[in-house]
Amino acid sequence: MAEHPSDAADSRCDLLLSGGAVITMDDERRILEPGAVAITGDRISAVGSPADLGRLDAARTVDCRGSAVIPGFVSAHDHLFQNAARGLGEGVDFRVWLPDFMFPLALNMARDEAVAAVTMTIVEQVRTGTTAVLDHHYAGTDIETTLAVAEAVERVGMRGAIGRGLGREQPCPESEQLDMMAAAIDARPAGSKVEIWPAPGDIIYNDQDFVAASVQLARDKGVGWHTHCSQYKTDPDVYLAEHGIRPVLWLHEAGLLGPDGHFAHMIFLDDEEVDRAGESNAAIAYCPISHGVFGLGTMRLAELRAAGAIIGLGYDGAVAGFRNDMFEQMKMAVMIQRLQAMDPTLSGPAEALELATREGARFLGIDAGILAPGKLADIAVVSLQGAHMVPRPGPVAAVAYTARSSDVQMTIVGGEAIFENGACTRVDQAEVMAEAAASTERLLSRLDLDLGTLRRA
Ligand SMILES: [Zn+2]
Repeated sequence: MAEHPSDAADSRCDLLLSGGAVITMDDERRILEPGAVAITGDRISAVGSPADLGRLDAARTVDCRGSAVIPGFVSAHDHLFQNAARGLGEGVDFRVWLPDFMFPLALNMARDEAVAAVTMTIVEQVRTGTTAVLDHHYAGTDIETTLAVAEAVERVGMRGAIGRGLGREQPCPESEQLDMMAAAIDARPAGSKVEIWPAPGDIIYNDQDFVAASVQLARDKGVGWHTHCSQYKTDPDVYLAEHGIRPVLWLHEAGLLGPDGHFAHMIFLDDEEVDRAGESNAAIAYCPISHGVFGLGTMRLAELRAAGAIIGLGYDGAVAGFRNDMFEQMKMAVMIQRLQAMDPTLSGPAEALELATREGARFLGIDAGILAPGKLADIAVVSLQGAHMVPRPGPVAAVAYTARSSDVQMTIVGGEAIFENGACTRVDQAEVMAEAAASTERLLSRLDLDLGTLRRA
């Protein structure tokens, strides 16, 4: 049964996606095959059968037969600027990669170079059905560059938040960083399509007082905040030696763990930290490709979710993974859990799709991630008709395991198709890519990088 439009005003819609396998991700995990989704303005106005919704007076109808209609993907942790260095740093130890390669690259990036790199990455991400992102931006953290990066994300049509890098590795004194942070947030306040959030670089390597002040600012302004925590195997011991407490326990004691904290990684948690993260409903970004590329470790996914933590999937700056592809992330999210436990019964495609969509939206705090009336119309249409789809698995497994980025036919954010017919609708991909290629060439030629060590793979 359709959730019926009940009066004349509801007998119209702006966009009707009709005939596809509609994977709602609602509480009952309903799949309507065939189904239809009606969109009015920036929201979903009805979900039902093609026959029921076919009675609507639709300004535009898209025939989705042979495709899946799913909530758009959310990248829960990113460094959008890093794609400028795609191909560099493969196989380099993370303890060398970050201080000797990525930090110098970030600190030398000019504003136009950051904007070019971020725009290129967002174009790649909407082509894989991504509709929202939480970025951790530390390449040019002056107010103008921060705002220009947010504008670049919005220009292509995506929503989300730019976490502006704060802390010891930033060139500006810490005493001035929070004032600049406040000004940047005020320019794009809570409720903006792309917000600005405080983002201390890493819990492990920043002063507790500075982290707490950053969070207080976020709370005063009504926005979230973002950071890295317990990403490398020695991080908890380093923190314990300096502060006499494990990092997640300190976050809990300081009242910073939830519900507005958004943490990248949290791989190395002991049992008590898992419990505290769970009971605080901490939002944690699981970045399986990045964890694999750097050989970091395996997140305690099942235990964290059972305890109550909210887990989304993130690209973590796809320079390390060579590609922004949420289908690859979904499959790897399951596989590395099974490898680590040597247990093929763990997790599965349903959980992978949940993390990439519904849980990602919960993580980011946006009213999306579920195809139901009233929700934001952030949607991807994925072809299930390629040679790799014969015989076709069930719709959830077909999307989470079998599909790939090139199967995405349409990406919709807030009711607007920002990618369809192989092209972004708001920007010219060829222009964006040419600009990004030229600008990254300038950046890399200016930097004195040891390319022998960094291995352009
Ligand atoms: Zn990161």
